[in-house]
Amino acid sequence: MPELPEVETIARGLHKQVAGDTIQSIWLGEKPEPLKSSPREIAKVLEQSKILEVRRVGKHIVFDLKQPGRGRNSQERSGQCVVHLGMTGKMQVTTPDVEVAKHTHAIARLASGREVRFVDPRRFGRLAVVGARASAAAGFHASGDDPLELQSTRFIELFRGRKTPIKSALLNQKLLSGVGNIYADESLFRAGIRPRRRAASLTREQLRSLHAAVQAVLGEAIALGGSSINDYVNADGEEGFFQLEHRVYGREGEPCLVCGTPIKRVVIASRSSHYCSHCQK
Ligand SMILES: [Zn+2]
Repeated sequence: MPELPEVETIARGLHKQVAGDTIQSIWLGEKPEPLKSSPREIAKVLEQSKILEVRRVGKHIVFDLKQPGRGRNSQERSGQCVVHLGMTGKMQVTTPDVEVAKHTHAIARLASGREVRFVDPRRFGRLAVVGARASAAAGFHASGDDPLELQSTRFIELFRGRKTPIKSALLNQKLLSGVGNIYADESLFRAGIRPRRRAASLTREQLRSLHAAVQAVLGEAIALGGSSINDYVNADGEEGFFQLEHRVYGREGEPCLVCGTPIKRVVIASRSSHYCSHCQK
């Protein structure tokens, strides 16, 4: 499943390729699950819209759109298209001559002659639009704070006093939006904190270092992704996602890269957690 760094990479790649282009028409597939807005709404918001920006919000890809004659100025968006990739979703930017892949659920034909296609074999992905009415002013929001944007004071405020294990709190999308299992384990390792520790038992200093670790781990993964951006946003896009070298995640029984102690695996809130019992307290 694409994690925050992958979604950020994909959104940046899409932005580079399609910002400034205009959607001329939309084709939608027949499978209902991936479409969270009605075909009519989707066509209404997307067709004739200029793509102002493509960006990540939580683990969603958001296209900010502007229809001619709507909004107060040329840069004010009049609608949004929100895509969640689910488990197997992909966004392809391609030319019309490239064969349409099986499991393609939406195609936006652009004024430049290219197409943006939403492909998702397992159909856990979602595409929705936020319309031109009042809701567009507020726009699409993720449920929690963005882990890359929040300050350490806000991070401490979110986590201190919580009785749940810190690992569960990190995965709670109402607190932070987009931190997945791998990056939670890696961040806890770097901060020297065991995943089972109750959030409430952590000192401000520990929370501050965890905040720094979360941002560092995500930042490094995004930097890695940036160098291989074309692998994700292309016509056949079959390459797997880049991977940060994991220090604990998926390394059960292997020696800790710092101290050599075998990495342990425990299950917290039905998710695997990996940690070093020597380096993490
Ligand atoms: Zn260790």
